[in-house]
Amino acid sequence: MVIVLILASGGIAGQAVGRQIKLNRLKNDFIATVSHELKTPLASMRVLADTLLEGNYKDQKQATEYLQLICKENKRLSGLIDNFLTFSRMERNKHAFEMAKTSPALIANAAAEAVKTKFSKGQCEFDVNISEDLTDVSADHDAMVTVLVNLLDNAYKYSHDDKHIDFRVFNEDGLICFSVSDNGIGLSPRAIKKIFKRFYQVDRSLSRRSEGCGLGLSIAKFIVDAHNGSITVDSKPGTGSTFTVKLPAVN
Ligand code: ADP
Repeated sequence: MVIVLILASGGIAGQAVGRQIKLNRLKNDFIATVSHELKTPLASMRVLADTLLEGNYKDQKQATEYLQLICKENKRLSGLIDNFLTFSRMERNKHAFEMAKTSPALIANAAAEAVKTKFSKGQCEFDVNISEDLTDVSADHDAMVTVLVNLLDNAYKYSHDDKHIDFRVFNEDGLICFSVSDNGIGLSPRAIKKIFKRFYQVDRSLSRRSEGCGLGLSIAKFIVDAHNGSITVDSKPGTGSTFTVKLPAVN
């Protein structure tokens, strides 16, 4: 009996140590990734600001271009920091969602509105189709907007020129479905298995160029799980992807 107890407590202690090691590794990975990701935009802002201060520009047009680049990098930095903060709150399990009976159309419109300006600047055809007979969902409005904006942003980032992004919201078997389709680079079956894992990126150099850090989809999945929903992807390399979020409808 005593031996069983000692073995059992040893097992529990071993599990706790294992968890702690895993957590420490995660923290170290996190700090390394955050520092690395923040350094790049900071460095380019510094170079651009120095160039302007030293008067190393042809004319006002070029100076304005540099200032616009600084603004762009600054926005990118804010986006990265937002993602890191959401992620770190999630990891500490402190993300308190404020669930309320909400119209899926309101959520979808807010997400579409958030990306509209960016999409209209690129070569992008953006179709939004929100069904009129949608039942309400129980959701944290802002968190669900974050999910959809992440999916829409990805559809844009991982498509070549002549992008076609289709955003649909509809009822299906008592569930409210939000689907985002693109005609972009697509995903291999191997990548599909991993994309919801934190920090996973299929092509790091491509993702870096397109402002990624491998957290958007893991944040989306965390939020959707907290809503008792599901998030899935259907994709083929070279053809495009469709991400679908399903939430239970409430009456
Ligand atoms: P990131 O910040 O790198 O975009 P995400 O977690 O949002 O991170 O996505 C993880 C990876 O999944 C991306 O780096 C990219 O390789 C892949 N991915 C996500 N969305 C798409 C998409 N619509 N088409 C192709 N690949 C995608």
